Amino acid sequence: MGLKKSKNLFEKAKEYIPGGVNSPVRAFKSVGGHPIFIKNAKGAYLVDEDHNKYIDMINSWGPMILGHAFPPVEKAVKKAIKNSFSFGAPTRKEVEMADLIAEMVPSVEKVRMVNSGTEATMSAIRLARGYTKRDKIVKFEGCYHGHGDSFLISAGSGAITMGTPDSPGVTAATAKDTLLAPFNDLEAVKKIMEANPGEIAALIIEPVVGNMGCVLPKPEYLKGLRELCTQHGVVFIFDEVMTGFRLAPGGAQERFGVTPDLTTLGKIIGGGMPVGAYGGKTEIMDYVSPQGPVYQAGTLSGNPIAMSAGLAMLKHLKKNKDIYTQLDETGFEIVNGIRRTLLELGLNYSINWVGSMYSLFFTEVDVVDFETAKTSDTALFGKYFHEMLNRGVYLAPSQFETLFISTKIDDKLIKKILKANRESLISITK
Ligand SMILES: *Cc1c(COP(=O)(O)O)cnc(C)c1O
Repeated sequence: MGLKKSKNLFEKAKEYIPGGVNSPVRAFKSVGGHPIFIKNAKGAYLVDEDHNKYIDMINSWGPMILGHAFPPVEKAVKKAIKNSFSFGAPTRKEVEMADLIAEMVPSVEKVRMVNSGTEATMSAIRLARGYTKRDKIVKFEGCYHGHGDSFLISAGSGAITMGTPDSPGVTAATAKDTLLAPFNDLEAVKKIMEANPGEIAALIIEPVVGNMGCVLPKPEYLKGLRELCTQHGVVFIFDEVMTGFRLAPGGAQERFGVTPDLTTLGKIIGGGMPVGAYGGKTEIMDYVSPQGPVYQAGTLSGNPIAMSAGLAMLKHLKKNKDIYTQLDETGFEIVNGIRRTLLELGLNYSINWVGSMYSLFFTEVDVVDFETAKTSDTALFGKYFHEMLNRGVYLAPSQFETLFISTKIDDKLIKKILKANRESLISITK
């Protein structure tokens, strides 16, 4: 497999772009080697600058749930471009988009469009703080909510933890308002709420975590959080940037039957264009300017080209609900196949799976939170990653990322993926 052009591009990129990439995980730092530069993609496949072809198991970290260059999305974008690219004034498409989101996502009555998942989560906690007139938020270890200061916080020591900055540039003053809890531990959240009465504005969670690898909520966990938030007057936020429109047309909240107060969206919502959104109860959303006092704005928010792509995507997902059954079945086939191979090879690694998200963790421990995820052998994962890549399967370049299945993964591709998986596991464990 030649990778000369990618290698050269990366050398050049490093001269002008910090670390050679515009988002850190793309740099392949945690798996070694250099990143692969993509030239184009269609359906299930990515093609790189050296003309290697890969089955794509990232799908742009989610958006390409229908495969690359999905014709209805492509058509909608081409049509929209003829009317110019941006007006900075309201358009019909934004109204259609808001209406469609409200129809699809159970918790959303009103919604505001933004340009990324990061913007959505930053805006949602500002809104929760303005609405409750409280300062603190609770987040979970290992959950990622974009790169807003309030989220770049890691746990300090002690049972009831106050956060410490996780990146230089985040101030201690910001960190003190973010409280950290372990995922899947309801008792820990109860303690935090009781220790901070009347001070917590919001609790934000990935209802299914994708950002420490795929980690599922225990049964009744989300319901328990819902009850605690209601009891303590805390705004319950589902960060569905990843799970929204993926685990069901209405996201994890539909799949698990738990309704948050606010929801943040991204990734699939833009069909591959830079889009995010936050929405929820009218009573809370009406605190957003210009209706209410909480300021939030965006020059390119609701951009007509981006709205066209997102609308085409969401309309298709809403109309074709069998897509979700298909994705569940594909997920089952892949995960079951990996399990069979593990059994055959006498390996006891952990797999987590729901619908079109799954992770193979190189640990024998059940992965239920960040502590258990961290028991994974990341060096071994790095080897596995490169073995898969050499066999034409492009995985997320980190143990702590979920994989994403698209509707373009058919039976033939499942077989290819499972064959590559078996050979890779044999190669790295022999
Ligand atoms: C990707 C992601 C974000 C950040 O979205 P960006 O568009 O990258 O800013 C936030 N939350 C979750 C759960 C995500 O997966």
